[in-house]
Amino acid sequence: MAECIFCKIIARDIPATVVWEDELTIAFMDIGSVNPGHALVAAKPHVENIFSLDQRLAAAVFQTTAKIAQALKLAFAPQGMTLYQANGSAAGQTVYHFHIHVVPRYEGDGMNLAWPVKNPPRSAIEEAAAKIRAAL
Ligand code: AMP
Ligand code: ZN
Repeated sequence: MAECIFCKIIARDIPATVVWEDELTIAFMDIGSVNPGHALVAAKPHVENIFSLDQRLAAAVFQTTAKIAQALKLAFAPQGMTLYQANGSAAGQTVYHFHIHVVPRYEGDGMNLAWPVKNPPRSAIEEAAAKIRAAL
């Protein structure tokens, strides 16, 4: 897609620090790195978000994500690793080309995701589950 920054990286029209690529995926360093080693795993075809991923692409992207996470663990020996993936602006997506952040983590590194637990009643959880089953 012409205006997409990640498509430009994939086509080598703009520079990026690529650490891995195969037929369906690419992994490169995030320029807005949160911690050393912060990498992005992207689908090579231009798919905007998780809702456009077919099964083959979904499998390929997660395979590469696991590979990169394992390499980051070896390379940086972090205390933890966070996978972060946003779909839509309400979810925090800023680049509309599907990607997964792989972020080495350390105690007190300042990365935060607010997690406002609502503790709904069991009936509300069952109702939500029924809606999901009906949509599968
Ligand atoms: P998201 O909010 O999940 O859509 O994150 C998009 C990420 O892409 C941000 O963390 C940016 O720092 C990163 N990013 C944007 N442009 C580039 C670029 N040219 N090369 C590498 N990373 C980029
Ligand atoms: Zn794209």
